[in-house]
Amino acid sequence: MILYNDVFLKHDCPHIENKNRVLAIKKALIDLGIKYYSPQIEEDPIKYIEKAHDKQYIEMIKSLIDMAKEMGCIYIDGDTYLSKDSWDPILYAVYYSVYAVNNDFLFAVVRPPGHHAGKYGKANAISQGFCIFNNAAIAALNYKGRVAIVDIDLHHGNGTEDIVKHNKNIRYYSIYAKDIYPLPDNKSYDNIYKYPLPIDATNEDWISSFDLLLANLIEWDPDKVIVSLGFDAHKDDPLSVFRTDYTIYKYAFQKLAQFNPTYILEGGYNYDVLYNGTKLLIKFSRS
Ligand SMILES: [Zn+2]
Repeated sequence: MILYNDVFLKHDCPHIENKNRVLAIKKALIDLGIKYYSPQIEEDPIKYIEKAHDKQYIEMIKSLIDMAKEMGCIYIDGDTYLSKDSWDPILYAVYYSVYAVNNDFLFAVVRPPGHHAGKYGKANAISQGFCIFNNAAIAALNYKGRVAIVDIDLHHGNGTEDIVKHNKNIRYYSIYAKDIYPLPDNKSYDNIYKYPLPIDATNEDWISSFDLLLANLIEWDPDKVIVSLGFDAHKDDPLSVFRTDYTIYKYAFQKLAQFNPTYILEGGYNYDVLYNGTKLLIKFSRS
């Protein structure tokens, strides 16, 4: 089952991370005849968010959105914006991620994305990379049981690493391009498993790393697998530095199906890739 709501269109400034991304996914669902659900928020998501983010940071975001109501789009760093109506979509992105994970839904189609947002916002990088609250990390921290977060976005989820590092109940796995933003240290430690890939990585390179990730994941055997799903690892994405194509997504969806995972949308900025990638997810993601 899938969660999506047109409220996500309201986080909206002229930017590569814009509403057309989720509209491309919505179109794929409609064209496939797949029903999605759009529940209202029934519990205050702030209590979920506070498990992952500093209270002052949460308050700062709220007051910046109040400022955006007066001034229009506000940039909190070189990459990351808030618009006048961003508060509702930000809360819904958190709420739907928590809801989807706790109810074993297939896909939370949410934005803004989350995996670059750390406990205090920025996490060892020049910007928050379009992210406000870390939807996947919040969902993991609000799940009772052992959780793996598998991040297959082009970029390393430095914010997720920041929030879940040394947490005994969570393992974070990230397969990513190492020489671009957020320029992580590429070192695995404790519960953090990094699989850095060079620029120009091929399908074969990506799949070799993913197989290592998968072996560790199978051995750990978590109660729940959350996937930070970025479609920007496809070569046609405007941010991609890989030579990979749909092969890697089909492979990941098929291999992860055994875990009955919940996918949470992160990056992906080519509308055709978002559309076709969603169709692949529906086709291959359940065993
Ligand atoms: Zn990304």
